[in-house]
Amino acid sequence: MSETPTLDLPWGPAADGLDRPYWEGLAEGELRLQHCGHCGAWIWGPQWICATCHTFDPGWETVEAAGTVYSWARSHYPFITELADRVPYVTVLVELPGAGNRRVLGLLVDDVPENVRIGDQVVGHIELDPGATWPLLRWRRADTEGARA
Ligand SMILES: [Zn+2]
Repeated sequence: MSETPTLDLPWGPAADGLDRPYWEGLAEGELRLQHCGHCGAWIWGPQWICATCHTFDPGWETVEAAGTVYSWARSHYPFITELADRVPYVTVLVELPGAGNRRVLGLLVDDVPENVRIGDQVVGHIELDPGATWPLLRWRRADTEGARA
């Protein structure tokens, strides 16, 4: 019986540099997405060309890291090494009203991720793991924010 291998994928910019502004934004405490200066389309994941109007090199803008859970999934397998001690973990697809409702993926890491619901309000948190070079964007329910303070 074969076992699905976990991948050792270090977080951070890809070698081609396309997503570097995203990672540099996180390092500076900001969520940045591409926003086409020609047609206004929000783009995620990063692209060299706007898929809407075919303009090259769409720009980057800072977006408020707050949105709504559009969908979610619970995983019981650590597809990458970094998640080995987190199973089961909840991945959320978050719709960002500050970015034309563009959706981004991320981990839900609040205290009770097992009761996640579509439509929950979530807030992004930029976190640097011990030993990591680049921080990650993770999500927590907005209504748990007060309880954490
Ligand atoms: Zn465009």
